Amino acid sequence: MKPPAAHRRTALICGVTGQDGCYLAAHLLAHGYRVIGTSRQPDPQRLAGLRRLGIAEQVHLTPLDLADQSAIAAMLTRYEPQLVFHLAAQSSVARSLERPAETFESIATATRHLLEAVRTTASPPRLFVAGSSEMFGTGRTEAVTPSSRLAPQNPYGMAKATAFEIVREYRQRHGLFACTGILFNHESPLRPQPYVTQKIAHGVCRIAAGQQQKLHLGDLSIERDWGWAPEYVVAMERMLSQDTPDDFLIATGQSQRLETFVAEAFRSVSLDWRQHVVRDERFVRPHDGGHPVAALEKTASTLGWNATVFMPEVARRLVATQQAQLAAGRQRAA
Ligand code: NAP
Repeated sequence: MKPPAAHRRTALICGVTGQDGCYLAAHLLAHGYRVIGTSRQPDPQRLAGLRRLGIAEQVHLTPLDLADQSAIAAMLTRYEPQLVFHLAAQSSVARSLERPAETFESIATATRHLLEAVRTTASPPRLFVAGSSEMFGTGRTEAVTPSSRLAPQNPYGMAKATAFEIVREYRQRHGLFACTGILFNHESPLRPQPYVTQKIAHGVCRIAAGQQQKLHLGDLSIERDWGWAPEYVVAMERMLSQDTPDDFLIATGQSQRLETFVAEAFRSVSLDWRQHVVRDERFVRPHDGGHPVAALEKTASTLGWNATVFMPEVARRLVATQQAQLAAGRQRAA
């Protein structure tokens, strides 16, 4: 049973309309939290993910510009959250190459504004900040931990690395309960279409339905660690439930080639990827090779968290969801 409203703990999620924001909101609501969610523009189109999870009415949505530190401070005073999750970001590496300044502002500068607002508020909440495996760059042979050397190779990774160091500085210098969760790739049906995993799932389903012949992709030899987003938000919440603040890696610990992802997605509809995939130089990114493998001992022993959904199951689930959507669309049109 949920506690009465007056006794409910409050969580503030910056970036609640994104993939992780939606799953985190669902997780926190299920655990009795009052959830306040922020968006730059909380208009109805942005609520698709929350609606899909059936929780749009339960999240209190409010506009917030993270470039405005006094607005953040006013929000903390108004809602008095115990937990704040900073998930808002320009979160695409490809887009960061075109819009480096926006990427830096939305990630590094916004994190500093949040930390300042938390530091100066009457009862500082605990703060989670979303980091990224992109902070470590590519081509590492050793497994990484939160203490590993940072070597980002694109504007997104650089912004995440800067935010990570700012969080550490505030924790050490001001004693704030502020932590970075260093997230490796994680997917779900709420991942937006431009991301390669959704592009693959969508293309596979259209090819299986005879609506498309070929799928154009970049370098299939790149490696990533793909997990399942609804599990990752559980680790985020656990990080803020510890006795002491610390940074953790959140990953499956298994790195796979994009080719393996593609092969599995096609196999799940009984097709051979080699007959349908075309290498397209337009989608090849510089310095995009292999991400490091995550050393997850600390995450497992301290948070008691391990991923349970791995690739190839991730690929199969994305294709199955897209197939169901396409079938529903055909039924509506009939
Ligand atoms: P997402 O789906 O892209 O959602 C991020 C949210 O941030 C958006 O819904 C958007 O909300 C807001 N946003 C977008 N551009 C912004 C900008 N320029 N300035 C300020 N806000 C902006 O991201 P996600 O997949 O949920 O990821 C959550 C966090 O984890 C992000 O910080 C991301 O960088 C990090 N991360 C994700 C992954 C992954 O595989 N998903 C991996 C590593 C790290 P409004 O439009 O409503 O404002």
